[in-house]
Amino acid sequence: MEQKKILVVGLGYRTGLASSNFLAGKGFAVTVCDIKSREDLLPVIKKLDRSVKVIAGNQDPSILETAFDEIVLSPGVPQSIPLIQEAKNKGIPVLSEIELAYRYCTSHIVGITGTDGKSTTTMLTAHCLKATGFDAHPCGNIGIPYVSIVDTLKKNSVAVIELSSFQLETIHTFKPDVAILTNLTPDHLDRYNSLEDYFNAKMNIAKNQDASDYFIVNGDDEFIKTHLPPLQSKQYSFSLQKEADCFFKDGAIYCTMNGRRQLLAHANKLKILGLHNVQNAMSAVLATLSLAKKLNREINLRKLEEALYSFEGLPHRVQMVGSFEGRAFINDSKATTVGAVIMALKSIPGDVILILGGRAKGDDYSRLKSYFKGKVKALVLIGETKDDFSVLFSDIPHIKAHTMEDAVIKAMKVSSQGDTVLLSPACASFDMYKNYEERGNDFIDIYNRLSRGQLRWM
Ligand code: ADP
Repeated sequence: MEQKKILVVGLGYRTGLASSNFLAGKGFAVTVCDIKSREDLLPVIKKLDRSVKVIAGNQDPSILETAFDEIVLSPGVPQSIPLIQEAKNKGIPVLSEIELAYRYCTSHIVGITGTDGKSTTTMLTAHCLKATGFDAHPCGNIGIPYVSIVDTLKKNSVAVIELSSFQLETIHTFKPDVAILTNLTPDHLDRYNSLEDYFNAKMNIAKNQDASDYFIVNGDDEFIKTHLPPLQSKQYSFSLQKEADCFFKDGAIYCTMNGRRQLLAHANKLKILGLHNVQNAMSAVLATLSLAKKLNREINLRKLEEALYSFEGLPHRVQMVGSFEGRAFINDSKATTVGAVIMALKSIPGDVILILGGRAKGDDYSRLKSYFKGKVKALVLIGETKDDFSVLFSDIPHIKAHTMEDAVIKAMKVSSQGDTVLLSPACASFDMYKNYEERGNDFIDIYNRLSRGQLRWM
């Protein structure tokens, strides 16, 4: 039989590489193309299986003159590029790495999507599942491609997969046992025409679920409430405001999933800060209990409670860096949406000097104004949005900074003891950094130099 020919579009650092090597290992004839030059791609090319053919610096539809049987699209590449449009015209199936891995997956699956809180909820869900006796493996958008671990999973393992809307655009049969939708606020409107389109991409997570599966949803999210289509799966919701399958009241997390109200945990014992993290904890609880229900397994609720308390959180998400001259330094570099910044401001007591800006993502930044009042003493504006933000937030004291170091020094100058210097940019990092991790690490590094006396601020 002739070897099936597959084109991977987008080599990237991780996912395209993992998909290409996975497919080569399965005996397919693999070609990978990427818009970057061969020189830029060299470190990644070195890690590729030797049988993989590389087309560098070209994403032209003419690549399709070779008759490919299927295309695997990396999450960073939009479907709108001419190559993918042409492939669709020609009837060549286009799938995501998630769909590819799913074809080979024999384990149980928990899938997590939403605008904010995906990574935290993914890691916390995996942590809760492990603590209650499951062989759980976090993967997906958190940085471990699903395809890179799928062959190591056993039948009773659980893949806990963080899924971006991009990854969900090209799934066809992917069917998680449990799906979580954390929330939905405007994000990536640079890539979607409307909030509805963005929501529809996210809802692909549940499109193949049946009555044996579970869908866990934020019961406080107005947009979701009014737009949720009818689903086959059973639904559980969590709420900060009202009684729900899991809800928060007077500082405690309760669960009513089994027909009676049970006190599960106390929020003040969580190491992760803020009410948004109470929401993340509630969705992790519901995911754990739903999967156990589906598999007919008993869960020790005290172990689940302890797991919530022992979870340390992830770096770059409202991460306490330290304290210098009476100012707390918090790194929230992962906050690339307005929603995430609002959550950070709500989680932090006292006055804040906010380091804000970067590459805009099409969000409605004016929504921040009302949250700044009485909370943000001054804005330190960085990145490409600096000038626009200084106009938009003209009624809030603000200063522009050229670099992160300049921003931290200026933040020190306008702050006083008891304040918090918060990096929560509301924007992507690509104008100044490779990614949000590099941005957060730069902030931490500057703090470290400051606190060791290696950087002068006065
Ligand atoms: P994602 O993977 O969806 O980007 P993360 O867990 O990495 O989510 O968190 C990203 C940012 O969003 C951080 O600034 C974090 O503090 C904030 N955040 C986390 N959970 C929530 C939530 N449930 N609602 C709003 N913001 C959140």
